[in-house]
Amino acid sequence: MTKPRINLSLPHMSGREQQYINEAFETNWIAPLGPNVDAFEKEITEKVGVKDAAAVSSGTAAIHLALSLLNVTKDDYVFCSTFTFVASANPILYQGANPVFIDSEPESWNMSPQALERAMQEASLAGRLPKAVIVVNLYGQSSKMDELLEICDAYDVPIIEDAAESLGTTYKGKASGTFGKFGVYSFNGNKIITTSGGGMLISNDTEAIKRARFLASQARDQAPHYQHSMVGFNYRMSNILAGVGRTQLQVLDDRVSARRSIYEIYYQGLANLPGITFMPELEETRMNRWLTTLTLNEEESGVTVKQLLTALNNENIEARPVWKPLHMQPLFKESSYYPHQGNEHVAERLFTTGICLPSGSNLTVDDQQRVIRCIRDLFSKIGENTSYFILGKHEV
Ligand SMILES: *Cc1c(COP(=O)(O)O)cnc(C)c1O
Repeated sequence: MTKPRINLSLPHMSGREQQYINEAFETNWIAPLGPNVDAFEKEITEKVGVKDAAAVSSGTAAIHLALSLLNVTKDDYVFCSTFTFVASANPILYQGANPVFIDSEPESWNMSPQALERAMQEASLAGRLPKAVIVVNLYGQSSKMDELLEICDAYDVPIIEDAAESLGTTYKGKASGTFGKFGVYSFNGNKIITTSGGGMLISNDTEAIKRARFLASQARDQAPHYQHSMVGFNYRMSNILAGVGRTQLQVLDDRVSARRSIYEIYYQGLANLPGITFMPELEETRMNRWLTTLTLNEEESGVTVKQLLTALNNENIEARPVWKPLHMQPLFKESSYYPHQGNEHVAERLFTTGICLPSGSNLTVDDQQRVIRCIRDLFSKIGENTSYFILGKHEV
């Protein structure tokens, strides 16, 4: 008999969302636009401490709008973290621009300031500075924003902060996503809070956000008839989904606590196994621990990443490798890439050793124990069969 499925990260409704949906139906505000959209935008600005926000159909749409607002066009360059989901970089291609990928650094797993500095120096000498840098905060961890901002400011290049995974995280006391010229959140089904699908573009530049709303609704000019002077998009969030978002936002803090507790339980249960290292938490940050991720040193543990993933999947537990760096993707094989330093490729190493564990805020303690037991069983089974393991890392 197959065991019940344990998923990586499932939507977690608070139970009050239905009320907002009903209200939208009763007042017939089913359109993209409406009171929930306005209220959701306002509530998110208050929550994260930013001047303005535009609710859109996805995080990807928000990144696309940010690039449009920064006038990224054909043949321009845009720097982007290499260690991320493809959605961070696809909008660069929508604009016909060239992505340049920047490696991670070991303390945050996010963009390496050293690699960024090298890339900027070279681009500056070649006279082709990027129009923007997309800095991604992976698995809820903030990037080293102070260092990255200092470099970008020196070259006068704006940052788009892809905080799709880091809503609820703080860096030096300030909300993740609020450090760049633009910030992007996602409310996709697997994210820390969800509207089933949706996103938010935030900025302290209220004019830019006003323009984002204009571009996101087909760039319709002020005129009694339908008049358009430029290309627009159909990217606004629906009023129904914004109602879901408003309720979800009310439980964001609970969701962060829940995911942080899940991380703690995994840490208690697994950190003493040989070769296992959890994603560190950057100093002066409080991360949302969207997904608990760890790296496995195959030599120290005697267990391979493949064996670990297979063991979990055989138990009907969804565990995944971490994101495959974009510079390794066939889609971006022509793009340039800057490693962390010298011959040190941090994102590549994370990719070959990293694993994401089930981390949904609705994961039960029992289910989590099942995950831990499965991993510990595998380690002890392999330990019995290999003399290498019996020697252990401490005795070698
Ligand atoms: C989910 C995600 C996105 C895209 O958000 P969507 O709402 O799914 O379009 C972008 N970047 C990262 C890092 C993500 O995890």
